[in-house]
Amino acid sequence: MTDTIYSTDAYARTMDAVVVATDRDDGRVLLDRTVFYPGGGGQPNDVGALWIGDDRLAVVRVTADSNGVWHWIDSAVPGTGTSLRGELDWDRRYDLMRTHTAMHAMCGVIWRRYQVPVTGGNMVAGEGRLDFELPNWNPDDKPDVEAELNSELAARLDVEVSFMPRAEADKDPSLIRTKVSLLPPSLETVRVIDIVGLDRQADGGTHVDSTGEVGTITLATVKSKGRGFRRFRFTLDG
Ligand SMILES: [Zn+2]
Repeated sequence: MTDTIYSTDAYARTMDAVVVATDRDDGRVLLDRTVFYPGGGGQPNDVGALWIGDDRLAVVRVTADSNGVWHWIDSAVPGTGTSLRGELDWDRRYDLMRTHTAMHAMCGVIWRRYQVPVTGGNMVAGEGRLDFELPNWNPDDKPDVEAELNSELAARLDVEVSFMPRAEADKDPSLIRTKVSLLPPSLETVRVIDIVGLDRQADGGTHVDSTGEVGTITLATVKSKGRGFRRFRFTLDG
């Protein structure tokens, strides 16, 4: 298995690692440790580079399976045992961390106002969308939701990462509303992201340490997706 540095240190942007397995057909290597997030929970995978001395291998895709984290490269695959240095496309990753954190903050604001669960979400760097089961949406509330969200971001709330046993997580109703039940049954430890005082949910992605790092957002659109579902789209202002 790969030591997933991004799980405990989202700000690590480089790592020294060793190739532990290769797949020459697909052009990918499994590393013993990595800062590259393989994607999931609506957050896209990282991209960046692997350096072997002065040779730069572009990482074009990252995936995870039961063996660990695979780094897909667009050049010749180095052999097992090769030492290398990984480097994220940090500007993109940091914007994804800010966007992801804003999504959790929006879940918290919507939950507090309407007590409705999020049903789906997706993001690219700087833009997010979240779907809520929200039949009684009043379009006049849109500026209020945006202002409330921006005020929570400006409050510089701490964002904390913790881990809990699966059995404990399954019993926590506040996590169940955020769909712990969708986590794979084999998962023994659940990672929890807590925007202290606003939102707490099981999540594998990368986030900033304080909502202050997000800046402000614009709630671009709220559209009906039928049967009471609403799709909220927002963009980061900077
Ligand atoms: Zn998330």
